[in-house]
Amino acid sequence: MSTTKPRIAIIGTGGTISSLGTHSLEVLDYPEVSRKMEPDEAIERVPEAAQFADLTPLPFRAVGSTKIGPQDWIELANLIKTNAAEMDGFVILHGTATLEETAYFLHLVLKVDTPVVVVGAQRPASALSTDVGMNVVSAVRTACSEDARGKGVLVVLNDEIHSARDATKTSTYRLQTFQSRDFGLLGHVDGDGVYWYRQPLRAHTHASAFDIKDITSLPRVDIVYSYAGCDGVAVDAFVAAGAKGLVSAGMAPGLTSPVERIAFEQAAKSGVVVVQSNRAGSGRVARRTYLKDKAMVGADNLNPQKARVLLSLALTKTNDPDEIQRLFQTH
Ligand code: GLU
Repeated sequence: MSTTKPRIAIIGTGGTISSLGTHSLEVLDYPEVSRKMEPDEAIERVPEAAQFADLTPLPFRAVGSTKIGPQDWIELANLIKTNAAEMDGFVILHGTATLEETAYFLHLVLKVDTPVVVVGAQRPASALSTDVGMNVVSAVRTACSEDARGKGVLVVLNDEIHSARDATKTSTYRLQTFQSRDFGLLGHVDGDGVYWYRQPLRAHTHASAFDIKDITSLPRVDIVYSYAGCDGVAVDAFVAAGAKGLVSAGMAPGLTSPVERIAFEQAAKSGVVVVQSNRAGSGRVARRTYLKDKAMVGADNLNPQKARVLLSLALTKTNDPDEIQRLFQTH
């Protein structure tokens, strides 16, 4: 029988959503002891998802997401690009630890209209009251939604749809861990359908300055976390290790200790691009006079790990802090 259901690829990367622990109360030690399923096995465990779409499993990785980094992001973006013409949407099963970084990278480099939804879970597939089933179904339904087109890469967990730019993991174990702190989520997935309320205005996918076809590797960019009494040792070490960019996870509203500040100034003078973010978890860092005078960049409202993704991409195009500031204010 022919079908008119949308064709949705399920890309497996691993993560809690693909984890099988040894018993139903194994919700703690599973990163070390669980088995990671490939996407065919993962979606077989959620047969309800096939009501909404023709599902095509695409194996990519089967690892905890702490093992996923920039080179994997590039390969994943190319996998989506290669399959985009045959698919109506993509669902990526991903660990929650680095989900927001993978999602934001894809949001900035993919030139596709096809919905791309990144989904995770907080309890392994084998756990009592696991959130895997409903999260997978919600992600598939979101990927099938016509209104998902043009909204960039989406993050779905806990019945909520977030923009990849804004979603961040805010809690270790709670099911409502993903939040879009400054501006809120985009929509809900409920029993009667997918409901949208907002759309991202910052540049993404087609409007983004970046294209995966131009990117084969990313320069080293490190994050320096500030705390009361910190010195410049971490900054100097990252520069010595070859960092081309540094993101300061500064004390809100975007400040570092006096000693660390000197180290950042020296780094900026030597040509390393310094982006001032903050550790508060929300709010803008504006490019105040000090940052402009020292040729540093304000991170806008990107948290340090998202600022690192954007800075890595920006450095593939330019080292000019003014131009990089423009990219931070438009993406
Ligand atoms: N939530 C984790 C992840 O990001 C834990 C799973 C694991 O490390 O095995 O994948």
